[in-house]
Formats: sequence, C-alpha cells, structure tokens
Amino acid sequence: MTRLAIYPGSFDPPTLGHIDIIGRAANVFDELIVAVGHNAEKHPFLDPVDRVAALRECIKDIKNVKVEQFTGLLVDFARRHDCRMLVRGMRVVSDFEYEFRVASANRVMAPEIETVFLTTRDEYSFLASSVVREIATLGGDYSPFVPAPVFERIKAKLAK
Ligand code: ADP
Repeated sequence: MTRLAIYPGSFDPPTLGHIDIIGRAANVFDELIVAVGHNAEKHPFLDPVDRVAALRECIKDIKNVKVEQFTGLLVDFARRHDCRMLVRGMRVVSDFEYEFRVASANRVMAPEIETVFLTTRDEYSFLASSVVREIATLGGDYSPFVPAPVFERIKAKLAK
C-alpha cells in the first residue's frame, strides 16, 4: 500500500521552514502532495500561481513530491486523493492551540484522516511567512529566509 500524505498550507510565501518540512515528510511517506490553499476572499501577498510555481522549482529534485493548488475544504481535497494523512509543522507552543483545533475539527468531518506533526528544526522555529512578508514589505533583506525561486518572485512582485 502506498502511503500518501498531504502537506497543506497557505505558503504565502514559502519559506525555508516549509522546504525543510517537505524534505523530511518526503523521507517518511511514499508520496507527498504539497497543497497550496487559495482563499478567494483574502488578498494574497504572492499570487497562488507564483507560490505553486516557486514550490515546484524547489522540489524538482525530490521525486515523490507534487505541488497542487486547492480551494475549499482540505478534507474534501484529501478524500478526492484517497489520502488519509495530513502533515503539519509545529514550531512553538503557540502553534499548538490552533493546530489542535484544526486537527480536531478535521477529525470530526473526516474520522478516517489523521493529522501528524513534524517539529521544526531549531534554526527555523522563529520563521513564518508573516515574518518574511513584513521584512520584504519594509525593504529588508529577506534572502536568508526563503529559497531562491521564492526570492525571485518576491523581488518581481515588489518591483511592480
Ligand atoms: P497556514 O496558513 O495554513 O497556517 P502556513 O503556510 O503558514 O499555513 O504553514 C503551513 C504549515 O507549515 C503549518 O503547519 C505551519 O505550522 C508549518 N510551518 C510554517 N513555518 C514553519 C517552520 N518555520 N518550521 C516548521 N513548520 C512550519
């Protein structure tokens, strides 16, 4: 049986913390789908098409990882893929409460789907997309926090 997992998130923008979780999840599951969420009501920092394209460049050498965009309920997306495993990253204690709520709600909606958590690497425990957005918007150097394909897309966006 192939163990398929989905790693969902906004990835707005993807950071080195996300890439680390993707690499580690790819080591423990047979197949991994990185699911880039798009909420039509929220105005994104990076366009979802750019987030997907940047992530695809980042993972091009990892054979068992795919990147897809999704809208709507995550559990519906997971069921469409016949997937029973969701991966989330856990950084600090403050992540716990939110993640616990989401995992519990998802379990009520889809009891057959489990959520598993990978803890952050120490060096990325402070790193969040919101940190990158803020530094970039204020004209700071965000290059230490994001992979090159993401850096290029943020640069292009800011130049507009
Ligand atoms: P969302 O908007 O759905 O909360 P994000 O795109 O911010 O999602 O993050 C997706 C997942 O990656 C979340 O589970 C988040 O906790 C995790 N994550 C984000 N940054 C890091 C990091 N630096 N280290 C480990 N996990 C992370």
